[in-house]
Amino acid sequence: MTFLIDSHCHLDAGEFGQEAVGIMRAAQRQGVAGFVIPAVARANWNAVAQLAQQVHGAMYTLGIHPMYINSFDPADIALLRAQVQLVMNDPKFLGIGEIGLDYFEPNLDRELQWTVFVEQLKIAKDFDLPVIMHVRRSQDMVLKGLRQIQPVSGIAHAFNGSEQQAVQFFERNICMGFGGAMTFTRALQIRRLAAQLPIQAIVLETDAPDIAPEWINHQRNDSTHLPRIAQVLAQLRQETDLDSIWQATTDNVLRVLPRAGGFT
Ligand SMILES: [Zn+2]
Repeated sequence: MTFLIDSHCHLDAGEFGQEAVGIMRAAQRQGVAGFVIPAVARANWNAVAQLAQQVHGAMYTLGIHPMYINSFDPADIALLRAQVQLVMNDPKFLGIGEIGLDYFEPNLDRELQWTVFVEQLKIAKDFDLPVIMHVRRSQDMVLKGLRQIQPVSGIAHAFNGSEQQAVQFFERNICMGFGGAMTFTRALQIRRLAAQLPIQAIVLETDAPDIAPEWINHQRNDSTHLPRIAQVLAQLRQETDLDSIWQATTDNVLRVLPRAGGFT
């Protein structure tokens, strides 16, 4: 049977209170069988792991998000490495994320972001784990990091780069994540990429609670919206066989996040 995987959802976020498990169960009734819950800082490493244990199909990654760089402690890198070592046998643990570079937000030290990003790429490389990346106005620098360290595979989530950059990510076994942004008619470049990239380069995500699709008008986003996001992708690609979109994007998640195959 075909199912979807929400390849990027912060269901441990405070916005969800005690509702995260109920949201995942509701999404599962609509065909969203799997959920990838990335950590953002040492402060939520335990929370994402614990949430993932509560639902069959829920999974997590560990990392330090560039937007949390101001609470970064130099000891966090060694702690991350130790934590990864500790959870390597946990089938719910998928890889390193959310990591990356954010050159959009001011007040985030770029040099420190780069150091923390590269150190986490090294952890991914050393443990043969994929990476989930936040790439905002920083595509070329993220690609530079990938060329230097060469992690095995991963996802550039909420992709908003050029076609040329997308091709370079894909050559490095990185899929592009598409979600709520693609549902807005004004998002011309994102929609053109969603329509034209090889389907093998695309994974679907909600980025819950953020990047609300057009139809919920800035409200809290969650994984129950993924089937409709898949429908938008099908329409943009003029694909009448919705099932093939589900199958292909799920296959892609399982290819770039191989440990996610454990729950199927
Ligand atoms: Zn995220």
